[in-house]
Amino acid sequence: MKILRPDYMESFKCIGSPCIDNCCIGWDVDIDKLTFEKYQEVKGDPLETLIKDFIHINAAEHDSSVNFAVVSLTANKRCPFLDLTKLCKIQSKYGEPYLSNVCAQYPRIYNRIDGKLEVSASISCPEIAKSVLFEPNGVQFGTEDFLNERDVMISYDVDTKLPAFKGTPAEKLQKIRWICLDIMQNATLKLEERFEIIGHFVFGLTQTRNKEEITNWMNRYRKQQVSTYEIDDLSSNMLKRSKQILDLLDPKSTIVSERFLHHYHESEKILKDKALNLKALKNQYYDPYFEDRHYIFENYFVNHMFKALFPFTEAEWIFDAYLLMLCRYHLMKRQLLGIAIANKGLTDALILDYFQVFSKAIEHHKSFMLDLTEWFGYLKINDMKSVKKFLL
Ligand code: SF4
Repeated sequence: MKILRPDYMESFKCIGSPCIDNCCIGWDVDIDKLTFEKYQEVKGDPLETLIKDFIHINAAEHDSSVNFAVVSLTANKRCPFLDLTKLCKIQSKYGEPYLSNVCAQYPRIYNRIDGKLEVSASISCPEIAKSVLFEPNGVQFGTEDFLNERDVMISYDVDTKLPAFKGTPAEKLQKIRWICLDIMQNATLKLEERFEIIGHFVFGLTQTRNKEEITNWMNRYRKQQVSTYEIDDLSSNMLKRSKQILDLLDPKSTIVSERFLHHYHESEKILKDKALNLKALKNQYYDPYFEDRHYIFENYFVNHMFKALFPFTEAEWIFDAYLLMLCRYHLMKRQLLGIAIANKGLTDALILDYFQVFSKAIEHHKSFMLDLTEWFGYLKINDMKSVKKFLL
């Protein structure tokens, strides 16, 4: 069987102990039912006590092949099964077949559309972040033979031929998502322009009533006029709204990552100083790094869009998925501006650290989607006119 994947998946290899982060640091670790049962068989081994003390049946289980049980983290938010070199004691002693489905699969994300399998990976893994972000030619896709020894967990399994999708954009999911990816990878446009075109396209889809209108819209959207954005402009919308988004997320009480909180505090300390000329500081410290590296944001969002089947899975209303992506962009720009000023410039190391930890903290944030969609409702951000007023 063939599998569609971004090229970076070909060379991905977990580096284990030298990793600057570790998959399970700061996260709940899910254990599937079969693995849980295998752990009950471990007897007369120091791991037996750890298993008894730290692995508990999950009262909030939603799928027994994913989260039948959970590992309680230690007080410093680490998995109790990590040894001093950050290697998993279970894997070291019993091998990979004893890893839970979630541990064995991370950072890979599998989707299946109309029976065709795809894989990509999360930027929350530093090795993936490195190969995605710094690829100047953009994220490329190809197919390869799928040879996996164990079953994979599918995040989204979509059958576009379902009667419920008839006459809706979901029926054209593949074409629509590739149009969106194509716009995001159009390097002749500034990123803000790409966001605006994607917004018009996705909003237009929400206004269609049948297959014919969807097809017509897919053929017409390119003629849409977009605003011209000056690259050194410092949008007051971006600064104001990203602050509101941060306040809604309340990182101090909802995010445990010390590295994310360090970036957050460092950046907010700078940005709240009213005496600073932020436009001049942006020109001095932020713009030079991104001048010839626009592909970094592009690659981040292309990866996000591919793995989330953008705009179809993140929210019930496809336009909300677009708004959520735009909010991520604002948040990242805000924080990177503060980080750039605080560090008197940006480096590849700072960028890698920030994007990786942002992905881990925000892509997996428990209330990001709900808080923000409520906020869109409160501000009545529900078409491109309101997007331009409030967000772009
Ligand atoms: S975060 Fe990535 S490189 Fe690091 S231990 Fe996990 S899979 Fe390996």
